[in-house]
Amino acid sequence: MIYLKTAEDIELMRLSNHIVARTLGEMAKAVKPGVSTLKLDSLAEEFIRSQGAIPSFLGYNGFPNSICTSVNDQVVHGIPSNYELREGDIVSIDCGAEINGFHGDSCYTFCVGEVKQEVKSFLDVTKAALYEGIAQAKIDNRLGDVGFAVQKKVAGSGYSVVREVMGHGIGRRMHEEPLVPNHGRARSGLRFREGIVIAIEPIINMGKRNVYLEKDGWTIRTEDGLPAAHFEHTVAVGPNGPEILSSFEYVEQILSINA
Ligand code: MG
Ligand code: MG
Repeated sequence: MIYLKTAEDIELMRLSNHIVARTLGEMAKAVKPGVSTLKLDSLAEEFIRSQGAIPSFLGYNGFPNSICTSVNDQVVHGIPSNYELREGDIVSIDCGAEINGFHGDSCYTFCVGEVKQEVKSFLDVTKAALYEGIAQAKIDNRLGDVGFAVQKKVAGSGYSVVREVMGHGIGRRMHEEPLVPNHGRARSGLRFREGIVIAIEPIINMGKRNVYLEKDGWTIRTEDGLPAAHFEHTVAVGPNGPEILSSFEYVEQILSINA
């Protein structure tokens, strides 16, 4: 069942996503060589709670932390640890927050210090694929148009769309129907209506698409050991097109200051 959101629900979701966006902004300040992913987790949890919100991920199906931190060949669902980020790493920080009964969900892949140009280009394509997908989330388009647009942006680059994990509906629950794959056929699948809210999240491997689940039961890694990237926004299908409820504004303010 798909839960359509009213304009009031969407206003509340804007707040949840605003808190997530500002948490990612805090992460942008903190990501640097020598910081542990567990330290990032505690900063994120502290910030989310300071806003009167609850970290959506903490305890979700037993997940032990408030953010997912996926480093280099970790694709998604990395568990924060004592690992200290190193110059040249990339780290995807996926964050969710709940307030007033609604969740927000967004992810950004950060560079740690100086990263190889080929990896930066890979991140640029993945982020661009996110916006290509978002542009399709409008009334009378179909779910397949989102995946098709993401896949099309990635095609020809040598990168691969991961198929095992994908976007999702979001609202009073972090994961609602429908699933939002990052590949698909144009003009196929569910027809978008006003009030559908989905997390669109291209999860892209720099090399081959094959992934495996680590023994911890959470972390997904690339089989070929090459890096993976992940960018995510929560998006409402609005009367005048897609409305992005989350934001990279705070992250990108910090990153351009550091540039
Ligand atoms: Mg997420
Ligand atoms: Mg998500």
